[in-house]
Formats: sequence, structure tokens, C-alpha cells
Amino acid sequence: MNHLELSKRLAKVGEFVPENARLADIGSDHAYLPVALMLKGKIQFAVAGEVVKGPYESARKQVRKDGLEKQITVRLANGLDAIEAEDQIDAITIAGMGGSLIREILEAGKQKNRLSGNERLILQPNIGERTLRSWLQENNYQLIAETILEENKKIYEILVAEKTQEKVTYSEKELMFGPHLLNESNEVFLNKWQRELKQRQTILQQLAHATNQQARKERMESEIKMIEEVLG
Ligand code: SAM
Repeated sequence: MNHLELSKRLAKVGEFVPENARLADIGSDHAYLPVALMLKGKIQFAVAGEVVKGPYESARKQVRKDGLEKQITVRLANGLDAIEAEDQIDAITIAGMGGSLIREILEAGKQKNRLSGNERLILQPNIGERTLRSWLQENNYQLIAETILEENKKIYEILVAEKTQEKVTYSEKELMFGPHLLNESNEVFLNKWQRELKQRQTILQQLAHATNQQARKERMESEIKMIEEVLG
């Protein structure tokens, strides 16, 4: 991958980063996203945070190769520990991890006062979108946009949220499917939920004769019902 040619998934994440942002990209691996956005002139400053030495070194190498050391600071740090108050971060991207891990990173960051509340969160969980939406709701972040895309036969959701003063309340359906995605119900969304429906139906069949799995069976049944309703 060339540093200007992001994958479709990362390019879409980048589209939600506001112009002139001060960005923290957490779990930055090769720092592809901040480097590409900086080279495009879309952002003014970035922190690329990485918790693992190898990807951290790759990120440093990439930033050096493009001569962006002054504009992009690469830090070896766990989650939002990469952010310092003086960075004045106003957008955070966390992409390519599970929703539970992204949730843990946000929760730990909140506990350590690494979130000012003024930053836009742009999150791309590979799975576990529901748990992430719950965290956003519990912490008064409103989903201002969502998108869904397919790349290399994988389907990805991107959630964009901002803190609000008002109480945020999503229905069970909105938490599971996403309030914006549900409204739009585009082809990729319908494909995703057809797949999810099949998976749950298979699990339910496998559980048919299990005696100690009542709670799981009931959860599968209720999710299947909800998916069928949405698929119409
Ligand atoms: N964000 C890039 C993308 O979307 O293509 C890289 C995704 S890669 C699959 C996930 C990266 O997150 C890995 O480099 C991993 O080391 C890093 N990571 C995992 N947990 C992390 C944490 N708590 N703090 C910082 N980085 C983390």
C-alpha cells in the first residue's frame, strides 16, 4: 500500500475526520491514516499511538520516510495514554479492532481524563458494534453518522460520535443495527444482516437439543426475530 492510497476502509474513516483537525489515531500500526491525511493537507497535527513495539517502529519509519516528524508524533502507549492535554486533540480514530477492545480503550481513557469531551470519535470496530454503541450511549455521545462498506468480502461499520449535553437514548434495535444504518438500510447493510441471520439460525439449530443453554437460545430467538423484522 502506498501512503497516499489508503484501503477503502481507512479512506472512509479518514473522510469523517474534520478539516484542519488535531488527530489522535490509536492503534496506528504503520501510521498510514495520519500520514495520508497529513499529506493531503486535511489535518494540522496528529499523534499516532501504538502499544506494540513492532507497529510503533513501523509508524515511526513511515513518518520519517515522509518527513512528517514535526507534524506527527508517534508514541508507544496503551490506548488514550498516547494523548497529552497540550496536544489539543479534537478527533480520535480507533480502527481495525474489536468493539469490546475499543470500548475498553475509551473507558480507560475516560477514567484517566484523556477525553476532553470536545473530540469527535471515529470508530471502526471489526465486530462488536453493539457494545460500542452502548458505551457511547452511557457516556452521552451521540452518533452523528454511521456508514457501512464492503472490502475484500468483509463488511465494516464506521461509527462517528460527538459528546452532547442531552441524554442519549437508543432503542434495542438502534443499538444492534445502528440508528443511521437502520434508517438507510442499504444493500451492504442488508447483506450483512442476511449473513448474521443465517449464523444465528445455525447456532439455534445446534442448540436445539442442548439442555443447559436456555438463556442463549432465548437470546438467539429474540435476535432472529429482530433481524427478520428489519429485513422485512
Ligand atoms: N488502525 C489500523 C487500521 O485500521 O488499519 C491498524 C489496525 S491493527 C489490526 C490494530 C492495531 O492496534 C495493532 O497495531 C495493535 O498493536 C494496536 N493496538 C491494540 N490494542 C491497542 C491499545 N490498547 N493501544 C494502542 N494500540 C493498540
